[in-house]
Order: sequence, then C-alpha cells, then structure tokens
Amino acid sequence: MDRDAVAVVLEQLGEPRYRMDQIVRAQRAGAGSWDEVTTLGKPLRAELAGHAPLWSAVPEERLVSVDGTVKWRLGLADGRQIEAVLIAHAQGRRTLCVSSQVGCALGCTFCSTGTMGFGRDLTVWEIVEQALIAAQEADSQGARLSNVVFMGMGEPMQNLLAVFGAIEELHRPAPGLGISARQIAVSTVGWVPGIAAMQDFPLPVRLAVSLHAADDQTRSRMMPVNQRYPIASLLSACRRYCDKTGRRVFIEYVLLDGVNDSVDDAKRLARLLRDGRFHVNLIEYNATGGEFRASRPERRERFLLALERAGLEASVRRSRGADVAAACGQLVTARS
Ligand code: SF4
Repeated sequence: MDRDAVAVVLEQLGEPRYRMDQIVRAQRAGAGSWDEVTTLGKPLRAELAGHAPLWSAVPEERLVSVDGTVKWRLGLADGRQIEAVLIAHAQGRRTLCVSSQVGCALGCTFCSTGTMGFGRDLTVWEIVEQALIAAQEADSQGARLSNVVFMGMGEPMQNLLAVFGAIEELHRPAPGLGISARQIAVSTVGWVPGIAAMQDFPLPVRLAVSLHAADDQTRSRMMPVNQRYPIASLLSACRRYCDKTGRRVFIEYVLLDGVNDSVDDAKRLARLLRDGRFHVNLIEYNATGGEFRASRPERRERFLLALERAGLEASVRRSRGADVAAACGQLVTARS
C-alpha cells in the first residue's frame, strides 16, 4: 500500500494509530484487497479503497526453479516492474533477495539490471511488500522467511532512507516480520557515502561489498562506479565501518573466466584484505548474454585455495535459480 497516503486518510478520519497495524496484519495474512481487511469497518474500507490500493506491489508472474527458488515479477502502481527472489535452504529457512530500485543507474557490465537504466527508487512499502509476499510463500511451504538480502535490482545505498525504513519494518516484531537484524544484509557495489551512513544505523545488519576485482583497471571495466570510488577509497570506508561497528564486512567476488580469476588475482586480493576483518564470498557467474563467461571449476578451486593459504576466510556461494533467470546479475524487467 501507499503507506503515507493511507496514514493521511486514517489521520484525517481521526482513526486510532492501531488501524495501520490491523492493515499490515491483514496483508501478512494474505488479504488481497481492502474488502478482505475485515478487521476494519465497511465504511472505512470503502474510504481507503478510494485513495490507494491495498498492495503497491502485485505479483504478475511467478516462476519456480528446479532447485525450488521462486522468482516474482511484480507490477507497481505506476506500471513499472521489479523482481524478487526467494531461495530455499535446509531446516525450513528461506532467504529473500529484495529489489530497492526500479532498474539501476550504475551499469555494471556483468549485470542484466544495469542494462535497464534507472527507473526510480522504491518506497519503503514497495520493499516491505516483497517480504510480505515472500513470507506468505514461505508459510505455504511450511518454512519461514529467515533472511533478507538487499541484492536484487538497484543499488540500495542510492535509496538508503527507504532501505533503512524497510529494514526497521522487517525487523519489527509482529505485525512486522520479526527478522533478526543479523539475518539482513545490505549489499553495495561500493557507494562510499552509503557505507559511512551504515556505520550510524542502529540495527546490526550485515554489510556486503561487491569488490569483484583486485585492481582498479579490471574493476573499472566491470563496474563504472570504480572510477568514482576506486578500490583504495572503498576499502578505507570498509575499514572505518569495521572500526566503528566492530562488525566485519562480507566481500563479494564474482569469478569471471580469464578476467579476475587467476592465482595472481587471488594473491592481490589477499594482500588488499590482509588485516582480517573481511570474509570473501566467491560467486559463480550466471550468463547474462554479455561479454563474460563463468570461471571454470578448477580455476575457482585454485583461487579459493590461494585465498585460504594467504589466511583469508572465504567460501563459494553456489548459484541458485539460474534456470528461471533468478540468480545474481540476472534480474531484469521490461517496464522501468
Ligand atoms: S550489480 Fe547492482 S549496482 Fe551494478 S548494475 Fe546490477 S543492480 Fe546496479
């Protein structure tokens, strides 16, 4: 829903504050329209229906991967589209990958979203509704939405106020989703002012930084943002974040065949990160129709071994949902 518009109507009508929570509870329980919010009286429902739809993000397509990953294409009230992805893990846990913008302005060359250009920022509630839809899906599978990662469409740090607002709602006990802050991750391509702002955010969410290369030339080829915030300034911001919060930073590194996956690259990366406040996630590349190919398994293993020998903590993150274009770097919609 357009929460601001709904809040104004409730206030103008002199309704008590708990009305908003009643509406959120109804959304969480799966109400599809104002008519189904039966905890509100009929006249109030009719009044609200005249101002805003109950949902601001509506599933238009739902695809299920052979590995159980679910991807939604969601239509927004202004006709634009976003995508959200729910990934299944063992023990009934589910991770939602949420979008924070329609499209993206940063144009990373390995990423489908980057080809769309920038549409607009999402509102707090357009982000939260992705989680409400995912929580219903998890419930229907007898599972629970346990983790949320801001790794979908868009650069979350360019829409940080809405991202912070959404995190507060995701974390809030019922009727919020009650997700532990430590199970929420914000991922950035290295938007340095955003990393500085994250230092002061009171909830201990995780910070993930997409580094993807150990030298500026390679990184600039993959990520134009590197010309604005090169590796040295990015890692300085990460270290300030570690100092201030006492938390470590997760470094994301997508392995591209012959581009950034040599043992020398691994050694350079280890030198950059050697003071031990980082954990490296190596990511399998997913085809996006561009110039890059995935690293071969033997190169990936050698890269991982070189990092470990240098004393870095590292792991390989397996790709999920690639058959329905739900994997990292594959999210794209027609309407931005
Ligand atoms: S990787 Fe992230 S920041 Fe880069 S183009 Fe894709 S969505 Fe934007």
